[in-house]
Amino acid sequence: MNDAGRQQYRIGGSLLDLIIGDITNETTDAIVNAANSSLLGGGGVDGAIQRAAGPLLLAECKRIRAQHGPLPPGRAVATSGASLKAKHVIHTVGPVWQDGSNGEAATLASCYRESMKLAEQLSCLSVSFPSISTGAFGYPVYDAARTALATIVEHLRTSSVKTVRFVLFDIRTHRAYSTEARKLAARVPGFQFEDDAAGS
Ligand code: ADP
Repeated sequence: MNDAGRQQYRIGGSLLDLIIGDITNETTDAIVNAANSSLLGGGGVDGAIQRAAGPLLLAECKRIRAQHGPLPPGRAVATSGASLKAKHVIHTVGPVWQDGSNGEAATLASCYRESMKLAEQLSCLSVSFPSISTGAFGYPVYDAARTALATIVEHLRTSSVKTVRFVLFDIRTHRAYSTEARKLAARVPGFQFEDDAAGS
């Protein structure tokens, strides 16, 4: 079941979805991986994506790593989707949470922006994101949700990407994103909950 808890928002000509699910099942043009700088795989969503995508994905990651070295936090690179349904995987490295005074929010925003720019260059119409940095990297979920959503909503105003989906792995994370999306919709002109959009 991949669209449990689905909530849909509109911004300009684009949609923003929040669902509970496993990102490896997504059929969007691209999925985003919360990778680590080594690009050599790890636990959490990275491990799940590598397992589902098969050895070709790790081989591509190793090639990029050999050519360009470690990927710094806030940056993104793209590979094929290998055996996944998604055509592309965009790998980005989130910040490790320290105490919030070390540029964590700026780095996290950069992950979302850089991933969106790559998706646009790859002509993707739809992209799925996990909740970057809120697992092993320890970023407080509500703070991460606020930054993630504000960055994506701003970007979607002028983007060629038509659907962004946050695929959230558990109810707690989904609740944080839902709460912050509601707050953002109350504040940001043109960002509307789909039910509100339908009723207006
Ligand atoms: P980070 O190192 O950036 O914190 P993690 O992979 O540890 O990355 O966690 C990021 C988020 O991804 C967490 O909310 C975690 O529960 C979630 N996650 C783990 N597996 C999946 C999956 N298969 N699909 C979507 N989200 C997942």
